[in-house]
Amino acid sequence: MSAHPVADHPCFSAAAAGRFGRVHLPVAPQCNVTCSYCDRRYDCLNEARPGVCAGVLTPEAAVDRVERALEATPAITVAGIAGPGDPLANPDAVLRTLELVGSRFPRLHLCLSTNGLMLPDYVADLVSLGVRFLTVTMNAVTPRVGAQIYREVRWNGTVLGGEAGAGRLIERQLAGLAAAVARGMTCKVNTVLVPDVNAAEVGLVAAAALQAGVRLINVIPLLPVPGCPGGGLRPPTAAEVERVRAALPAGAIPLRHCRRCRADAAGLLGGGHGCMGDADDGGRDGGGDGDGGGRQGRWQGRRRQPQ
Ligand code: SF4
Ligand code: SF4
Repeated sequence: MSAHPVADHPCFSAAAAGRFGRVHLPVAPQCNVTCSYCDRRYDCLNEARPGVCAGVLTPEAAVDRVERALEATPAITVAGIAGPGDPLANPDAVLRTLELVGSRFPRLHLCLSTNGLMLPDYVADLVSLGVRFLTVTMNAVTPRVGAQIYREVRWNGTVLGGEAGAGRLIERQLAGLAAAVARGMTCKVNTVLVPDVNAAEVGLVAAAALQAGVRLINVIPLLPVPGCPGGGLRPPTAAEVERVRAALPAGAIPLRHCRRCRADAAGLLGGGHGCMGDADDGGRDGGGDGDGGGRQGRWQGRRRQPQ
């Protein structure tokens, strides 16, 4: 079973949320999945409210951002990567960022949120870099339901649609979660509740997560983004969200304090530090250009997920 939430991670422990903060590092612009509710001009809906990300950072600029965030909010205990695309669709930039931030700020917890497609390939790397906290967003475990949410899944150079794509994603999410738990990571599952699509599926997602060893389930209400294919989907009411949380299977622990933060949020949850504010200071593809001084990190040159 996934380790218990620790007392100083604001997302994994409601008790910690008012006392400790996190800084998100937007170093991951690409994604390998197309969710019907996502508009790529916006932050990842799996983790974020749909505000435009202020800018993608290079790994080196991300280190500076952590420095400044800690100056502004010393209570920050977590450095996380949650987009604006999928972190593991940007492995060069993400692994290098984790390496740099982990060595410069050893007291911080390292945290990552992913759609899980590439997770089985990177669990060992994440653990070796000291990433202890992991979130996987799973919106379905039944391919028929998943196909109504995931329009495309790009894996190994192939574009998979419909149930084939959803099925591959689900299979990889569950394998990745089990591997992460086996390696001692503290994991949670986020589920975007799309009321007319997956309301009846969330309990099954939680049951599958439990079987993989994960108890923390964060049911996130859909925030429709106008202009994308799922822009017309209706968001759930507060009562619907609560009904779904209350119906989770025995053993699951529902989280209720998620603030749907931006991919560049920093500070206490909901504390008004939604964005660090400065523009792109390092190029849109953070993985390729190193630090400008010729130093090659351990994670430079890793294979890149075909988009
Ligand atoms: Fe958008 Fe996130 Fe889905 Fe990728 S995983 S398509 S960034 S919501
Ligand atoms: Fe934590 Fe939720 Fe914000 Fe992620 S989106 S940092 S889980 S509160």
